[in-house]
Amino acid sequence: MQKLTMAQKDAGAAASGGRTGKPHAVVVVYPMQGHIVPETHLALRLAARGFAVTVVTTEAVHDQTARALGVDPAGHDAFAGARAAGMDVRCELVSDGLPLGFDRSLHHDEFHGSLLHALPGHVEELLGRVVVDPAATCLVADTFFSWPATLARKLGVPYVSFWTEPALIFNLYYHVHLLTEHGHFGCNEPRKDTITYIPGVPAIEPHELTSYLQETNATSVVHRIIFKAFEQARGADYVLCNTVEELEPSTIAALRAEKPFYAVGPILPAGFARSAVATSMWAESDCSRWLDAQPAGSVLYISFGSYAHVTRQELREIARGVLASGARFLWVMRPGIVSSDDPDPLPEGFAAASAGRGLVVPWCCQVEVLSHAAVGGFLTHCGWNSVLESVWAGVPMLCFPLLTDQITNRRLVVREWRVGVTIGDRGAVCADEVKARIERVMSGKEGEELREAVKNVRTTLEAAAAHGGSSQRSFDEFVDELTRRCGGC
Ligand code: UDP
Repeated sequence: MQKLTMAQKDAGAAASGGRTGKPHAVVVVYPMQGHIVPETHLALRLAARGFAVTVVTTEAVHDQTARALGVDPAGHDAFAGARAAGMDVRCELVSDGLPLGFDRSLHHDEFHGSLLHALPGHVEELLGRVVVDPAATCLVADTFFSWPATLARKLGVPYVSFWTEPALIFNLYYHVHLLTEHGHFGCNEPRKDTITYIPGVPAIEPHELTSYLQETNATSVVHRIIFKAFEQARGADYVLCNTVEELEPSTIAALRAEKPFYAVGPILPAGFARSAVATSMWAESDCSRWLDAQPAGSVLYISFGSYAHVTRQELREIARGVLASGARFLWVMRPGIVSSDDPDPLPEGFAAASAGRGLVVPWCCQVEVLSHAAVGGFLTHCGWNSVLESVWAGVPMLCFPLLTDQITNRRLVVREWRVGVTIGDRGAVCADEVKARIERVMSGKEGEELREAVKNVRTTLEAAAAHGGSSQRSFDEFVDELTRRCGGC
């Protein structure tokens, strides 16, 4: 690790100091899978547009990603392939303040506490070295960080805040003071009536807010992170958002009245295929042979993402529903999905009962799976990347949001775009409902309607991302502005 870090330091210094006429983007990645994926691809996009890019990630993420690939972390250079393809991009590592072997999933609060308290000092120390020419540099950092506006001011560089969730959620957090003033948040008995005063959001129900905005105790470490992060977001020079203008027009218009706000999504791996830069934190099982043997549209893909936990009880109800539906399925059972100390949470006999029609893997290349013709539905926790990927692949969703933005994302999927259905809420999910929903989506008329709807939304995404489309134009404007501001040619 030490050897690599030194090599990278030299390369990074050369990158930021030795180049003339090239803007330098320092991209600081939030150390969680759902942020790593879009932030890595944003970094590559900037590099493809002529930026010299320094990606800052944590030692723990670097270590876990290398191990997932089966390579020695000390010799792993994630962006070597991108450089070989002509991009000026390299990586710097920073400590998140915890030992490498620390179980961040099991000790959620300690991990987030460390991101809040220890990481900022390490990043500041690193950026003091990496930002050699402030006039040519911009800081691109995840909106969830609690320090970027302050640090950017100190360094004398612009702060580009990158929001990896829908604009709607940025808007809700940005206006948390309104929710508090109106009694929908931050009190013991929040109001239950429709929220109608968030700029650009005609109406949203309290139960559609993110989980953190529904909690009455707002003193958790994640709440502290969110409050600090959005104080910082007010100081951002630019906001980039992984969404599409046509999908959230009124919210985006309202945010544009506040800040230069660029909707540049969907940010996906190039070609919607396995990325040249590995981003997975777990080893990807190859599911292609199994999928090749299944009939078109017959497989339900099931995954709850990288972060949230489900309870044993919820998992069992879903498993019973899946079995009873008779559907073929590919289920990602991430290690620690219930808890790191509960390695085998599926009901007893599940493997035998589903033999021949189901495959359970610890992790996969999700974009590859979703693009496979055999996949006809996605039972998802509604992580924002998963939602965008599912729409891009034309696959309708069965929604089981667990926490954070996933609750609000479900509103977009089910209520606004009608490309998915709900299977029930946390704590109340039951096998019969799961079975019925799976049957309707995989083989019923409801499934046909959803497939039609998802095709339409997919067309919107494709048009936005195509030459001359809204996201492409937005990204062009952003690149032009940054290139001008950072003194490039
Ligand atoms: N993912 C993957 N393989 C898996 C499960 C997930 O590659 O087996 C990827 C998925 O494609 C997505 C990311 O991990 O890009 C998860 O992000 P998301 O926002 O959907 O959920 P989160 O993990 O943040 O809850």
